Amino acid sequence: MSPHQAWLDEVRPNPYVDQLLGGFTWLRFRGPLEREYREAQFAQTQSLLRITLAVGTILWLLFAILDHLLISSSERWWMSAVRLVVLAVLLGCGALLWRGHRQHLEWMSMASIAALGVGAAVVVAIAHGVDHNFPYEGLLLISMAGYFLAGLRLRQALLVSLLGVVAYGVGEWWVGFPLARLINNLLFLLSGSVVGAVGCYLLEYKSRESFLNTRLMQLLADRDGLTSLHNRRSFNRQMTSLWRQGQRDGVPLSLLIADVDHFKAYNDAYGHHAGDHALQAVARLVEERARRPLDMAVRLGGEEFAVLLYGSDQAVALQLAEGLRVELEQLGIEHRGSSSGAVLTLSVGVATLQPAEGLALTQLYEQADRALYLAKANGRNQIAH
Ligand code: GH3
Ligand code: MG
Ligand code: MG
Repeated sequence: MSPHQAWLDEVRPNPYVDQLLGGFTWLRFRGPLEREYREAQFAQTQSLLRITLAVGTILWLLFAILDHLLISSSERWWMSAVRLVVLAVLLGCGALLWRGHRQHLEWMSMASIAALGVGAAVVVAIAHGVDHNFPYEGLLLISMAGYFLAGLRLRQALLVSLLGVVAYGVGEWWVGFPLARLINNLLFLLSGSVVGAVGCYLLEYKSRESFLNTRLMQLLADRDGLTSLHNRRSFNRQMTSLWRQGQRDGVPLSLLIADVDHFKAYNDAYGHHAGDHALQAVARLVEERARRPLDMAVRLGGEEFAVLLYGSDQAVALQLAEGLRVELEQLGIEHRGSSSGAVLTLSVGVATLQPAEGLALTQLYEQADRALYLAKANGRNQIAH
C-alpha cells in the first residue's frame, strides 16, 4: 500500500475501501457493489446513448446513399433492404430510450451496435459479390462506437465487436471473396478491435475507480469519524427533506437530543482515550433507535447525539428515549467523577411536531433542546419533553 493510500486503511471496514484496496483487475466488483456501479453507470450513459443513436442513424442513412452511388446493379436493393432492417432496430431502440426504459439500456446499446455490425457485414458481403473494391472499413468505425460511444462495459463491447468481425468473415466467405484479401481485412479489423479493447479496459478501470472514490467521499462527508454515525451536515439535509415529506404526507416528526452527563468529568477521571471509547458505546445505543429507513442516528458534536424519527408520535419517541437512557445505565460504564450516579448516564430531550405551513423547521430542534435543558436542570439521567 502506497503512503497516500494508508489513510484508507483507517476507514475500514468499508465496502468501497475494501474494493479499492482489493483491486478489480477483471473489471468486476464484489457482491452488491457491482449492481450499485452498474446503476450509477446507467444514469451516466443514457444521454450518451441517445447522441450515439442519433449520429449512428444519420451516418447509416448517408452510407445507404453511398451504396447507390457505388453499386449500380440490382444488388443495391438487397443492400438497402438490409439497411432498412437495421434502421428499424435503431429506431426501435431510440423510441424505447426516449420513453425512458432505463432497465433495458444495456440490451438496447448491445442490440444497436450488434445490428450495425452484422448489418454492415452483410451489406459489404453483398457488395463484394459484384465489386471487390467496395469499402469495408466502416465496420471498424462501428466497432469503435461499441468500445467508446455506447456506454458498454468491456465484456459487452468485446462481444458485439467480435460478432461484427465474425459476421464479416462468414459473409465474405459465403460470396467467395479472395482468401488473401479476406485474411488481410480480418487482420485489420481484429487489430482495430485490440486497440479498442485496450482503450475500453483503461476507461472502464478509471470509471470504476472514480465510482469507488466518489462514493467513499460522499460517505465520509456525511459521517462522523469517531462513531460512524451521521454528522450534523447529513442531519440538516435529512431534517429539511423529512420536514417537507412530513408536510406532504401529514406525518409527524420526532427528535431526540441526548447529551452525556458530566462527560468532562469522565474525561478528567479516565482520560480522553477512554472518553472516546465511551462515546462509541453510546453511539451504538443511539444507532439502535434509528432502525427504519428514513430515521437517522446522528452525532451532533462532542458528547451530543440525536435521533430523528419519521412518523413516530410522541408516545413512541418517549419510549425510545427512555429505552436509550436505561440501556446506557445498564451498560454500567463506571463514572466515579459523576455527581448524579456511579455509572455513565445521559439526559434526553424529546420533541414531536407535525410539519405544517407557517411552522419553522427550527422549532422542532429548539423544543428538543429546551426539553434537554429541563432534563439536565432536573438532575440528569432522565428524559423530558
Ligand atoms: P453536562 O452533564 O452538563 O452535559 O456536563 P458535561 O461535562 O457533559 O458537558 P460539557 O459541555 O461541560 O463537557 C463536554 C465534554 O465533552 C468536554 C469535552 O472535553 C468532551 N468531548 C467533546 N468531544 C469529545 C470527543 O470527541 N472525545 C472525548 N473524549 N471527549 C469529548
Ligand atoms: Mg454533557
Ligand atoms: Mg454537551
